[in-house]
Amino acid sequence: MKKDHITNSPKETRKLGEFLAEEILKIRNNKKAIVLGLQGDLGGGKTTFLQGFGKTLGIRQKILSPTFVIMKKFPVKKKGSFENFYHFDYYRLSGPKEILKLGFKEITSDPLNIIAVEWADKIKKILFKETVWIKFRFINDKKRKITILWKNLPKN
Ligand code: ADP
Ligand code: MG
Repeated sequence: MKKDHITNSPKETRKLGEFLAEEILKIRNNKKAIVLGLQGDLGGGKTTFLQGFGKTLGIRQKILSPTFVIMKKFPVKKKGSFENFYHFDYYRLSGPKEILKLGFKEITSDPLNIIAVEWADKIKKILFKETVWIKFRFINDKKRKITILWKNLPKN
């Protein structure tokens, strides 16, 4: 699945995040974590998208850009196959060393986890081929182009 979306407001971007979360919540019997790799322009809407995504997972805290924290873990409150949502923001970092130190391999191998990584292109080499890629392009003040690339749909 490759799909281009144009959004004209933060609200529309959050809605798109909600829609993707609904699709992911339908997944059953996955063998490892679901990983979203978010990439693209600063201010492109990655964090905004994840606010909608997190809402649909039943996460009550607001998803923020973690400035000094690179990882945040939330409990998934919606019924389904998942228990944890991890939000990584790799803005300040470059290679995969730091994320590996945080136990990224173990986190991605656990099918109870959903993981979103902002600036995921920086750790592309350690992401598996089933990663759902989401690309954000800044068009103008209010308009964003968001491309969702879901190639190897995890077994469901
Ligand atoms: P990123 O995480 O990619 O750096 P953010 O989601 O933190 O981006 O910031 C996006 C900024 O752009 C927010 O201030 C938001 O209000 C604004 N914005 C304006 N239009 C849109 C849109 N269509 N989609 C998402 N954000 C938008
Ligand atoms: Mg962000």
